[in-house]
Amino acid sequence: MSKLLLLILAVLAVWWLAKGFRRKDAARDAPEAAAEKMVTCGHCGLYLPQSEAIGEGDRFFCCAEHRRLAG
Ligand SMILES: [Zn+2]
Repeated sequence: MSKLLLLILAVLAVWWLAKGFRRKDAARDAPEAAAEKMVTCGHCGLYLPQSEAIGEGDRFFCCAEHRRLAG
């Protein structure tokens, strides 16, 4: 009887460990969106993702107005 109990505990321990490892993998894969390159506006210095910025040469701006003001 105690052998069966030990087996159940072993199975539970393996299942718990596997679940823990899977959760760690998910956490490692999650911050994909945060890995996007961030740039600063050349006029006001706002920090924004490159995909939302307006690029001009090697400079970036948060909006068309700031690109115009920066000349
Ligand atoms: Zn700006």
